[in-house]
Amino acid sequence: MTAVNAATSRPENPIVCTVPFDEDGVRHGFLRLPYSRNDSAWGSVMIPIAVFRNGEGPTALLTGANHGDEYEGPAALQALTSELDPKQIRGRVIIVPFMNTPAFRAGTRTSPLDGGNLNRTFPGRPDGSPTEKIADYFDTVLAPMADFVLDFHSGGKTLDFVPFAAAHRLEAKMQEEACIAAMHAFNAPYSMVLLEIDNVGMFDTAVENHGKVFVSTELGGGGTATARSIGIARKGVRNFLIHAGILDAEPEFAPSVELDMPDGDCFVFSEDDGLIEPLADLGDEVEKGAAIARVWPVARTGQPAKIYHARRGGLLAARHFPGLVKTGDCLAVVAVRGAEITPEPARDG
Ligand SMILES: [Zn+2]
Repeated sequence: MTAVNAATSRPENPIVCTVPFDEDGVRHGFLRLPYSRNDSAWGSVMIPIAVFRNGEGPTALLTGANHGDEYEGPAALQALTSELDPKQIRGRVIIVPFMNTPAFRAGTRTSPLDGGNLNRTFPGRPDGSPTEKIADYFDTVLAPMADFVLDFHSGGKTLDFVPFAAAHRLEAKMQEEACIAAMHAFNAPYSMVLLEIDNVGMFDTAVENHGKVFVSTELGGGGTATARSIGIARKGVRNFLIHAGILDAEPEFAPSVELDMPDGDCFVFSEDDGLIEPLADLGDEVEKGAAIARVWPVARTGQPAKIYHARRGGLLAARHFPGLVKTGDCLAVVAVRGAEITPEPARDG
């Protein structure tokens, strides 16, 4: 039976954090989610969490593996949990390297427990499926504690991206400005003001609705990570904490190319099943109307390819990763290329 909070008459989220959030020092523990199943009647899903605190100050929440097959965030954040010195910080850093732990351990985008896509499940439910409970806990417990939230993504097994940090267009312009400043401080090789094709259910939207400063990333893809892409993540998270006024260190800045996705014309979707022949690669500049891929039929020989064209001019920022494509898959994303900028080494806080 689900416990109900007497004050709110809302069901209690059953997730328990095994370490305190408000004690100085370093605590390594778990978000323990009860999950009764065939091989463990009173078993739990154990989601690793690290809490670093040194006195009063802002709180940053850092998350990876919101999708289970994206690796830059998990690698950079797992490293940070053993490398961060609490004496170097002011305030608090909460690190959850493997947010959707069941998906991460299975190497899949969505959870093997319930099929849940965590980043389409927010705000979740305290009395729902395991993925819904995780979403509800982040929405009602962790996000409200934070001032700054950084959620790492990359393309997973099916997409590949030029490495960028991203902030969203928001109706609250002061909040949007703060998010864009934090994105610039992260200082990925590209900095994207992002239009989501469908922002319902996203962690991004939930955190932004709490009024927090939110930055997300897309740092590569293909279901793997590289020395370069993990290096971008490791540098970016340090820069982010310095920008938040939490980490006392010198930021490391290099030029970053601004990208913009102003509308749906950025996306090219396949209307065919077939074999992709790319006609442009990630980072290439393409003209409006330029051929960017052929999709060859595979059922028989001697059939012509369908040619797909860029619907606007710009930079090829994302592409379908596997060699085979299905109808409805996102084939490519063309972003508008802006100026190349290097942030000033000034900080907030
Ligand atoms: Zn993702």
